[in-house]
Amino acid sequence: MHAFHYRDDRLFCEEVDVAVTAEKFGTPLYLYSAGTILDHYGRLDEALAGLDHLICYAIKANSNRAILRLLRDAGAGFDIVSGGELFRALNAGADPAKCTFAGVGKSREEIEYALEQGVYSFNIESEAELDYISEIASAKNHRAPIALRVNPDVEAGTHQYISTGKSENKFGIALERAAKVYERASKMPAITVRGVQMHIGSQITEAAPFVSAIEKIAPLVSELKGKYAIKFFSIGGGLGIAYESSIASGSGDWWTSQRSHPLTIRDYVDAILPPLTRFGLRILLEPGRLLVGNAGILLTRVRYIKETTQKKFAIIDAGMNDLIRPALYGSYHEIVPVEGRGDSPNRPEPSRSRFKNTIKREKIDIVGPVCESGDFFAQDREMPELRAGDLLAVMSAGAYGFVMASNYNSRPLPAEALVRGDKVALIRERQTLPQIMSGERDPHF
Ligand SMILES: *Cc1c(COP(=O)(O)O)cnc(C)c1O
Repeated sequence: MHAFHYRDDRLFCEEVDVAVTAEKFGTPLYLYSAGTILDHYGRLDEALAGLDHLICYAIKANSNRAILRLLRDAGAGFDIVSGGELFRALNAGADPAKCTFAGVGKSREEIEYALEQGVYSFNIESEAELDYISEIASAKNHRAPIALRVNPDVEAGTHQYISTGKSENKFGIALERAAKVYERASKMPAITVRGVQMHIGSQITEAAPFVSAIEKIAPLVSELKGKYAIKFFSIGGGLGIAYESSIASGSGDWWTSQRSHPLTIRDYVDAILPPLTRFGLRILLEPGRLLVGNAGILLTRVRYIKETTQKKFAIIDAGMNDLIRPALYGSYHEIVPVEGRGDSPNRPEPSRSRFKNTIKREKIDIVGPVCESGDFFAQDREMPELRAGDLLAVMSAGAYGFVMASNYNSRPLPAEALVRGDKVALIRERQTLPQIMSGERDPHF
């Protein structure tokens, strides 16, 4: 499934001309491909077919209700990290019995809400949290189903901000402590020990860290099954995606593009399946980025070209408030022209040949309008010569894009649209200026 591709030198999302959506809804605009999301979900689900499993989509990657509906209809459960995400999941029609509640800092209100709704499991990150949930559940005459998030202390080989399975991270309970904490939990009258969970990080592009984490936790999992008859083992999310050349492979399959993505869904499942099968437990997965990352782009227009003695800048209408990943993680996003004058070296024939000799290529910084030097999308990026008014697509922006957007510089949150086949629908209106200010009050001292 290749959602984003060129047709006669115009970028298409499935069967929809991307430039037309920009005309229709304005820019900056997040544009998602429903077909790609369903394709990724379907592949993962199919690869796991021999195993009792539940895919709990990690809502935090992209929480738009239309996306949640799409995945719910496909059979997904949800991994939530706040009361707000539970609210969203329920609003999208999710079954709370397919929702797991993670996060290191759950509040009383969030715990009560999740208890009332009946989530499948509270994934507990500290002993203090276990005590707190037990106390709240007792007071409400409920029983809270729990799993401990066990920290296997493995190196995930990813950015330090998104590595979570090392002993110095704030996440989870140390493997050596876990058996003791489970023993304590099993004696709490308002607690039901239901499973065990791990999540070692995000944007992990090799199978080895997953396998070694599973191997490290395996003896504990078997012990818990024997002692407390736990029902599930959640191996978390974290499978990485290709950020480079997502549009390169004319074959249309990001996952088989070995150059840019060493780990396919198949390879991942082939690696983790053998150690998981022996437990005889329900296996939960919590993919976020994997399902939605390559399924979305951020559409933006070049406002000005600015040349200094040192550099050339394309100032675009999207900023770090719309997509913070480059500023926050130093992330790479491929950026391609939407119309005509492209000549991306990866551009499939014949358009490539048509433009090869006519368009000058040059190095340019692609920056936003926000008053921060960190507000850039690319530096010294080789691009076809850009002009004011050109439409650009920032690729692979479907995960941790809109959800991290802010009103910094009092810029309205961007609009979001979803493509399915030859149809496109607005799934979130562009925020208006009065909406930005709507909660503010004069103090009347
Ligand atoms: C963020 C998160 C995920 C999803 O991570 P991805 O890298 O997007 O797959 C899964 N589980 C937990 C507990 C998380 O915090």
